[in-house]
Amino acid sequence: MIPHVRSITVVCVLGAALTACGAAGSGRPSASSSPAGPPVLAPGPGGLTPVFEHGPRTRGKTVALTFDADMTADQGPRAASGEHFDNPGLIGALRELKVPATVFMTGRWADQYPAQARDLGRDPQFEVANHSWSHYAFTADCYGLPTVDADGMRADVQRAYTSLRKAGVPKAMPYFRFPGGCYDQRALRALSGLGVTAVQWDVVSGDAFATDADAVVRQVLDGVKPGSVVVMHCTRSAAPTTEQVVRRVVPELRERGYRFVKVSELIGQAGTGR
Ligand SMILES: [Zn+2]
Repeated sequence: MIPHVRSITVVCVLGAALTACGAAGSGRPSASSSPAGPPVLAPGPGGLTPVFEHGPRTRGKTVALTFDADMTADQGPRAASGEHFDNPGLIGALRELKVPATVFMTGRWADQYPAQARDLGRDPQFEVANHSWSHYAFTADCYGLPTVDADGMRADVQRAYTSLRKAGVPKAMPYFRFPGGCYDQRALRALSGLGVTAVQWDVVSGDAFATDADAVVRQVLDGVKPGSVVVMHCTRSAAPTTEQVVRRVVPELRERGYRFVKVSELIGQAGTGR
């Protein structure tokens, strides 16, 4: 089914009063004269947070590379002792190759690397979206991640937006990626009213903890279809081959006729039909 897309004002999603947005029927949702915000999917029944997995298959060869900037709440000491959760080489490669991309950033990562967060947030080649503050799981069983209580889910997402704003990301996108991609109805309900679209993927690159770049390259090239969303990571310690993979995959996909887009473009296409 083709999801219906609506626009909501930037101020509604990203303003300080996130909690008031839609949840309490506070009115004036999009009556302001501010320009329409980024495209989002309409909520499901009962205001349930909508989930986006990929764009239309028949609107041309577009593909969105997405990069999760993971950092779990308690990894500060590891960063302090020299472990790199950032990956400036990868971002440099994306710039060199002129590949638009969407970065799902944890608030913890933005707290650790504010200059890089700001740099990404101010560069129109990228869009910065929300990957939770803590990178704790939103379901019980998710790759061994610690879990966040249902009561704390909303606050964790809001705290991430606060961290992004504090770091200097001017317009974080109303897109949220669940840590580990793990979600259920309870999690979707917990985030309803925030105005975010949950963004999954249809192509797993397999870059996390990979040491064999060839295997990751193959997996991406075999998996990409028109409208695909590819999940990768921009954490050097946990995904050491990603820069190399990007340098190989991008020219090859271009050779095959693909155009790289940000997630917002695919979500926008999803609303305008086939
Ligand atoms: Zn993650």
